[in-house]
Amino acid sequence: MTRAVIAYGANLGDREATIDAAAHELAETDGVELVGVSPVYESAAIKLDGVDHDAPGYLNGVLLVETTLQPHALLDVLQRIEHAHGRVREERWGDRTLDLDLIAYGDLELHDERLELPHPRAWQRAFVLAPWHDVEPEASLPGRGPIAALLAEASDEVRRR
Ligand code: AMP
Repeated sequence: MTRAVIAYGANLGDREATIDAAAHELAETDGVELVGVSPVYESAAIKLDGVDHDAPGYLNGVLLVETTLQPHALLDVLQRIEHAHGRVREERWGDRTLDLDLIAYGDLELHDERLELPHPRAWQRAFVLAPWHDVEPEASLPGRGPIAALLAEASDEVRRR
């Protein structure tokens, strides 16, 4: 079993319902055991050119799993759940009903055309680090160090709901 950290974000539709449904679908997946659910945070939308206060805000949080799935198979599961919730993909970093990112998979560092581990932007994102820190305060991000220190340096604003 490998511990994996999954971050979610939702800024369209019934965000709470989408997140609940996604967490259940993940928990019911063969080879995946849901072992931690963070509190929910709110954050402003970040677009390619910075924070967009006109876009609907996000709910963000982290799900911890223990899994027998290999990382690409776990990504397949996440993408299937995203698509089931009508994820809109027209705009890069655009609004979406559900975004699921694989933040870390054990200590694995991996770069291929489908998957980068750890997730390349997680180290500087309070909307990932804050909820992760709530459920796993001693965790480290492979190649980056303790998430507590990363969180202290992260500049984006998040608010616990
Ligand atoms: P996004 O639109 O930000 O959700 O990015 C989705 C794309 O990022 C997909 O094509 C994935 O194959 C790729 N990707 C690379 N690394 C990761 C990761 N750690 N978690 C989720 N998606 C990833």
